[in-house]
Amino acid sequence: MSQKPTESFPPVITPSLDQQVILKGQKALVTGASSGIGKQVAIALGHAGADVVVNYASDAATAEETVQEIKQRCGTNAIAVKADVSDEEQVQAMFQTMFRAFGTIDILVNNAGLQKDAPFDEMSLAYWRKVIDVNLTGQFLCAREAVREFKRRGVVQTVSCAAGKIICMSSVHEVIPWAGHVNYATSKGGIHMMMKTLAQELAPDRIRVNAIGPGAIRTPINTEAWDTAEAYAALMTLVPYKRIGQPEDIANAAVFLASDLADYITGVTLFVDGGMTCYPGFATGG
Ligand code: NAD
Repeated sequence: MSQKPTESFPPVITPSLDQQVILKGQKALVTGASSGIGKQVAIALGHAGADVVVNYASDAATAEETVQEIKQRCGTNAIAVKADVSDEEQVQAMFQTMFRAFGTIDILVNNAGLQKDAPFDEMSLAYWRKVIDVNLTGQFLCAREAVREFKRRGVVQTVSCAAGKIICMSSVHEVIPWAGHVNYATSKGGIHMMMKTLAQELAPDRIRVNAIGPGAIRTPINTEAWDTAEAYAALMTLVPYKRIGQPEDIANAAVFLASDLADYITGVTLFVDGGMTCYPGFATGG
């Protein structure tokens, strides 16, 4: 006769669906949060009850706008902190500033990223390094500081079921090759395997690590893909759902993955792409 397991399983907690409290009391850091997806993610986390560090690389004024929007519209606390995510000392100083202001960290959204495009045989080493440094090494540096604090503090049951949550902003290009963007696609493929390895390594510490894979989202990074009628029509051939994504689409996914609603989810990429990864070219043949 088979024995029943002797260990006691923690109860599955059914968190509140109330957007105002789903992240109540949690402390979040969003990198590259002065524009585009990062800005909207920071605001959405604030709406869900978190205090937020708005990281920015250079644009202090727009970072401060995000801070004010969180404070005034969400009623939670926010501060802007300047740091280049690819610089180890600046990243460590940013986390120390966060700990002095908010005490700890519960949620890291590794969002900062950029493109430096060129045909492969014209791609400079400087372009290659810049994109890998910011998009991939930047996520490593920020995740490492967050994990050190998650492990030091452990789970605080009144705050969250998990000791910490990391959300890596990846891309559909972690699986879709992208000619002319080898540095960018490589950085996102690297994020995919970093995320999965961290999820495996850190799950016993109750640290969840996931990624979001945005498709085409209307932000400054890809203006040329949507700002003319011709470009938009061409883009739509790649999007079965026939609309461009908005930063809010990504922000909603980030709130979900950061919350205890996703407590049994780790090591996955949630594609938020209107079906772009469904091989739309095969919809009518192939
Ligand atoms: P964006 O240009 O508005 O945002 C990128 C942010 O990263 C900017 O605020 C920029 O200042 C910041 N940043 C750049 N270098 C930095 C550094 N060294 N240190 C700190 N911050 C730095 O573009 P976005 O579309 O909002 O991009 C956000 C993330 O989403 C990126 O990782 C991008 O690869 C990813 N993404 C975007 C799309 C899309 O369609 N917009 C699709 C897939 C993935």
